[in-house]
Amino acid sequence: MEYICLLCFHRWHERMDTAKERQCSRCKSRAVVEYQQFESAVNEIRHIISSSERPLASISKAVGVMSPLTSRVRPGPLRVIRLWRKVLQEAGVKENELDVYLEVK
Ligand SMILES: [Zn+2]
Repeated sequence: MEYICLLCFHRWHERMDTAKERQCSRCKSRAVVEYQQFESAVNEIRHIISSSERPLASISKAVGVMSPLTSRVRPGPLRVIRLWRKVLQEAGVKENELDVYLEVK
């Protein structure tokens, strides 16, 4: 099974999966999910971004997709923003376009 840390984005494989609560082997965080879960969120976000829906509908869908991940990294708004940036980047958003998505007015 492959895992990813939602704080430092370290990825690793674990053959022995006996631990009740997983912990990042690099930063010791417990905000860890299966990589598959992270990847499917990325794919959904990519799909939402490329769809021609109204922006507001896209945003509420995207927030829904992200909430199982963001709920793992609370508290800490900066951590949540970092997670969003990571997912958006993985979904194909370029570094210089990230702020357009994350800008709060
Ligand atoms: Zn970590």
